[in-house]
Amino acid sequence: MSDTIQAIRGMNDILPEHSPRWQHFEAVIRDWLAAYGYREIRTPIVEQSTLFKRAIGEVTDIVEKEMYAFEDVLNGEHLALRPEGTAACVRAVIQHNLLYNAPQRLWYAGPMFRHERPQKGRYRQFHQVGVEALGYAGPDIDAEHMVMTADLWRRLGLSDIVLELNTLGNAASRARHRARLITHFEAHQDQLDADAQRRLHSNPLRILDTKNPAMQALVESAPRLMDELDEAALKHFEAVQNLLRGNGIEYRINPRLVRGLDYYNYTVFEWVTDKLGAQGTVCAGGRYDSLIEQIGGKPAPACGYAMGVERLLALMDESGIAVPPASIDAYLVHQGDAATVFAWQVANSLRQAGLNVVLHCGGGGFKTQMKKADASGARFALIIGDDEAADASVTLKSLRETAEQARCSLAEVTAILQSRN
Ligand code: ATP
Ligand code: MG
Repeated sequence: MSDTIQAIRGMNDILPEHSPRWQHFEAVIRDWLAAYGYREIRTPIVEQSTLFKRAIGEVTDIVEKEMYAFEDVLNGEHLALRPEGTAACVRAVIQHNLLYNAPQRLWYAGPMFRHERPQKGRYRQFHQVGVEALGYAGPDIDAEHMVMTADLWRRLGLSDIVLELNTLGNAASRARHRARLITHFEAHQDQLDADAQRRLHSNPLRILDTKNPAMQALVESAPRLMDELDEAALKHFEAVQNLLRGNGIEYRINPRLVRGLDYYNYTVFEWVTDKLGAQGTVCAGGRYDSLIEQIGGKPAPACGYAMGVERLLALMDESGIAVPPASIDAYLVHQGDAATVFAWQVANSLRQAGLNVVLHCGGGGFKTQMKKADASGARFALIIGDDEAADASVTLKSLRETAEQARCSLAEVTAILQSRN
């Protein structure tokens, strides 16, 4: 039917057959973050659009072209669906004064929204897990972020992800670099695409982040920020690398790594894979020492990163990592008034013993109900008729093995289901 309502382009349903992968991923994530002492923060999905403009930067892909910004028709407020999680996290930390006398190790997870061209690994609603350490100035926390991420890949069973590292230095170095970049790009005006033309004077560093293949040569020959770094930035970068080496983390320095958001300084990093085609960055982040002040808080250093859940799940699929579907221990088949009353009691009792039980609903004869039991994927069918109801027993039938049916007490059934879990 032509007027059937569909999901919005680039926004996906996660169907029951796929949700076990998500649940597995989320369970691993929670244990992993707890192991490093990070605590969860949950912020609203909608914020004032000014927050993102101020945090991410006016002259960025996200704010210029990708943000779902709209006016609240009821009161005229300018709002936006969050395109990333750091800005809201920092907003909440300032609003609730969380940095008052302690630094914070925080994480968040959930959907983010960017109006991009949908393709494999790039959606308009996608999911991130983000990690932020606020109030930490030293290179140790930068290194912790990369070391713990390497541990996550191990916990998920993923290999084939490479760490790329760079430093953006401090504001003075970037200002010197900026001037040299403008000179370089001005000398090759004719080779700049429309985006680059526009950014030449407003944000030339962003030009290095271009995805336009026609501009790669020009970007390759551009002056390097690395050559403008001062003593402190070099020392910080060296200390991060020493910690990485000390923890056996391999990395590759990529001087072209600038990141798509404006708020970074010093360390930036990306974890990339060549197994996912063009959308190969699965995790990215770095240090953002000026962001808290920029959003209106008392100046405090910080460092953080976010990973793309869809891309990581795709990589798990690609790598053949199987996630078992949710298990049902028993499907309860019942017929007759007394049997049905007893079946509800049996189901409740088994669930209280920690078992997963589906009670047949919708009536029908034993034969139809057994078909449903087979299709449910349960390990056992438990059959309750008038005979069973009369002596409070249950007939147990394996749906996986060709074993005889056995008439058991409720205690016996509970023990069997638990022992074969
Ligand atoms: P890209 O260069 O791929 O556009 P980005 O630099 O815009 O990425 P970040 O803002 O750093 O991405 O977000 C962190 C991670 O979130 C990315 O590394 C990626 O794994 C994931 N991600 C970003 N945008 C999308 C999207 N539209 N769809 C799916 N995942 C995304
Ligand atoms: Mg992007």
